[in-house]
Amino acid sequence: MTFDFSKNDLDMSKYCTDRAADIAKHMNPDKMGTNYRKGPYSIVPYQTTHTTGGTIMGADPTTSAVNRYLQSWDVPNVFVMGAGAFPQNPSHNPTGTVGALAYWAADAITTKYLKSPGRLVPS
Ligand SMILES: Cc1cc2nc3c(=O)[nH]c(=O)nc-3n(C[C@H](O)[C@H](O)[C@H](O)COP(=O)(O)OP(=O)(O)OC[C@H]3O[C@@H](n4cnc5c(N)ncnc54)[C@H](O)[C@@H]3O)c2cc1C
Repeated sequence: MTFDFSKNDLDMSKYCTDRAADIAKHMNPDKMGTNYRKGPYSIVPYQTTHTTGGTIMGADPTTSAVNRYLQSWDVPNVFVMGAGAFPQNPSHNPTGTVGALAYWAADAITTKYLKSPGRLVPS
């Protein structure tokens, strides 16, 4: 897997930066600058470290990898914990939700799956 910005990501970033600059100009600042995102993704300058997705959770096995209990649609004895379950990046800190989902999945494994192994959500 290659993790990098596509041209479209950079174009969208430029568009948003320009709109923010439009708003800032109307506030008549004494000084202002714009900082466009350029080049490939790098972990070195602090930017987003909230990488999410890859094994996304959903209600439909044709558009998601795991169900609401983080159980693989294809292989019912596989449960996938972590930020990979997020279908999008909701911007704020993910770790609380990652932990809550892990408890939620662990509860489903112990109270439902172990009693009756198989898909916990019909499709
Ligand atoms: C610098 C930094 C600062 C952050 N600050 C915050 C913050 O303030 N608040 C917040 O909410 N979030 C923060 N985050 C984000 C948060 O750390 C992640 O969103 C969270 O750790 C994701 O959890 P995860 O379980 O999905 O993945 P991870 O915590 O990355 O866990 C994945 C695990 O899988 C293991 N692994 C990988 N490949 C294999 C393999 N083939 N076999 C076996 N094991 C494997 C890895 O070793 C790792 O232990 C920060 C992240 C960074 C990098």
